[in-house]
Amino acid sequence: MSVVVGPESSRVICPTCNLEVMSSTEGKSSTRTHLIALLLCALACWPCVPFLYCTDCARNVEHTCPECHNYIGTYER
Ligand SMILES: [Zn+2]
Repeated sequence: MSVVVGPESSRVICPTCNLEVMSSTEGKSSTRTHLIALLLCALACWPCVPFLYCTDCARNVEHTCPECHNYIGTYER
């Protein structure tokens, strides 16, 4: 079970502990991030790859509960 979440920390009901919490967010590299990285390599833009992994624009955001530390949901870009 996952909750629909946005790119920012949001007020959600945790599905595990049922408390209303402000979710903790963390950027995660996704399959798409790796695909863009491969594409950049193919275009000889490989110096850009580290920046790709450092920016949030190419990454999903994983939300976790600050109370019970369980997974709440993922915002996919
Ligand atoms: Zn919780």
